[in-house]
Amino acid sequence: MIVFDLICKDQHRFEGWFASGEDFTSQKGQGLLECPVCGGAHVEKLPAAKIRKQSEPAVPAQTSAAQPDKAEKFDVSRIIDYLLAHSEDVGKRFAEEARKIHYQETPQRSIRGVASRTEAEELRDEGIPVFSLPVPPQDRWN
Ligand SMILES: [Zn+2]
Repeated sequence: MIVFDLICKDQHRFEGWFASGEDFTSQKGQGLLECPVCGGAHVEKLPAAKIRKQSEPAVPAQTSAAQPDKAEKFDVSRIIDYLLAHSEDVGKRFAEEARKIHYQETPQRSIRGVASRTEAEELRDEGIPVFSLPVPPQDRWN
């Protein structure tokens, strides 16, 4: 919807709502426009056209990772980043370390690493929480 400030030849100003600029031209051409004050059909468009209802301010560009936007949607890669930054990489010793932590043979901490499907299942069977994440192999992280 577009709103034009209109003015008749007697300088009465009013607003006209149109589907488009072409709609205004078309209605004017057919003599459908008239001033609500004096009924005069000689209506002109004032120069400043305003668009309403459609032009919300543009969404700001993505903020950098250093300044997380609270309104940002749930983002798996962000969570992965967090986990990577807050866990110790134990690589292939993952299953072994996870067990040690579970049985309190080593200090409690978050670890990450690689485990085979079998290893992960064994850990789960022992009641050790293991999460699989869609993280690419370590050597692909730069
Ligand atoms: Zn008028």
